[in-house]
Amino acid sequence: MPSTIVWLRDDLRLDDNPALADAAALGHPLTVVYVLDEESPGVRALGGAAKWWLHHSLESLAGGLESAGARLVLRRGNAAAIIHELASETGATHLRWNRRYGGPERSIDAGVKTWAGEHDLDAASFQASLMFEPWTVRTGAGGPYKVFTPFWRACLESGEPRMPSDALRNLPPLARGDDGALPHSDDLDAWGLLPRSPDWSAGLADEWTPGEAGAHSRLQDFLDGPVEDYGTGRDRPGVEGTSRLSPHLRFGEISPFRVWHALRERFPRQAPADVGIFRSELGWREFCWQLLYENPELATRNYRPDFDRFEWQTPSDAELEAWQQGRTGYPLVDAGMRQLWQTGWMHNRVRMAAASFLVKNLLADWRLGEAWFWDTLVDADSASNPANWQWVAGSGADASPYFRIFNPVTQSKKFDAVGRYLRQYIPEIAGMDDKAIHEPWKAPEQAAGYPEPVVGLPESRERALDTYQKLKDS
Ligand code: FAD
Repeated sequence: MPSTIVWLRDDLRLDDNPALADAAALGHPLTVVYVLDEESPGVRALGGAAKWWLHHSLESLAGGLESAGARLVLRRGNAAAIIHELASETGATHLRWNRRYGGPERSIDAGVKTWAGEHDLDAASFQASLMFEPWTVRTGAGGPYKVFTPFWRACLESGEPRMPSDALRNLPPLARGDDGALPHSDDLDAWGLLPRSPDWSAGLADEWTPGEAGAHSRLQDFLDGPVEDYGTGRDRPGVEGTSRLSPHLRFGEISPFRVWHALRERFPRQAPADVGIFRSELGWREFCWQLLYENPELATRNYRPDFDRFEWQTPSDAELEAWQQGRTGYPLVDAGMRQLWQTGWMHNRVRMAAASFLVKNLLADWRLGEAWFWDTLVDADSASNPANWQWVAGSGADASPYFRIFNPVTQSKKFDAVGRYLRQYIPEIAGMDDKAIHEPWKAPEQAAGYPEPVVGLPESRERALDTYQKLKDS
């Protein structure tokens, strides 16, 4: 008797899920599986904050599947081996998944597809996580784009992203083994994805609702307010000016097609310029994935090979810890790093300032910062995180020019003038007046308990420029 396996990965949703929709249309008994794979070669284990998110997202997905008459099977181990096992346990004849774009993941999927062909299983994959798949966006010469603006123009010219499909409400009956038993599922709690001792996740739980319902309510909140002023609001860390959809997109709890068409519905005629700016941020996400697709070692190798000669300095333990813990003495950097630690997320403008401080003022290798963000961000993904770090460092595609060194004081005066964001995350300086709060070392009597700057801005800027100049001259 035919039966289908749907293998879910970074697409933890019932809405606009083409692999699941295809399985539903086939109508054969169904097994939906998620595999926690930390064994296959090259697969990067999730960081702590992303594990917390995954636990809750899987819980929410299991509930959604149950309401639609299905069941989520959880397995842990080598993904290919598990899919083979499950196919034999359930006598599967069909296998469905949505495509992934990272190097190790692609080779796992290609291996499973070959295996399926050899075992007479009908395997098919679908486009779900990106609106523009990397191989479909090409320069006139047939190569990948290396600069964002022409990449995004080419995407937009290639036509409107397809319409999303509706959430699935009735899935086929459960597939069973020959003995009539349902396939075994691990106990999610036993995976140990949640932090226990200590449990540092309270701030994450206050801030986020992982799962499809949480994703759709974030989208609605954004459409009801901030979207209309996104062009300026997105730069102000003290206000809710952005969508905060990043972790939901990361785990595929909402489809980018759904977000795209929700904007179309919200602005059926001429969309304001702010909407175009927001769409182009979605475009940056697509661009990062295209970069990873073309450069599978994006998290470990400089995109620009000349940067292999760059003379990074090893920061002292005290400097690195000051950065990680939000105790550099520069309020914007520190507020950002504390926001990250407490909530698993940091505002984009502050991410740029905090990253620039590490790679330029402390002259630390961008890989150190990338690894810290990987562990602490709920939205950490293997494309956007390294691509953005390399962008800030200057070693990346379409990177910020080496002489652009974000000044954390100028940035905080410009984008958080009255210190709303600074006060939220740095209680030691919350009582300072609006002017003094950006440079607490100038009024130490008002900043009890807040550290002195770990490094001076003018001299560390000079050191960075000299080091970059040396690279240019070499
Ligand atoms: P919005 O402003 O509402 O943007 C909408 C969506 O567009 C985001 O949810 C995200 O999916 C996408 N997006 C926006 N900016 C970017 C960008 N620069 N690059 C790629 N996609 C973007 N984003 C991640 O999703 N994962 C990461 O691991 C990550 N690491 C970063 C590291 C550094 C050093 C920097 C400077 C940026 C990083 N970003 C990363 C990009 C960006 O900061 C976040 O996507 C954004 O802050 C998420 O907030 P939001 O959902 O409110 O964004």
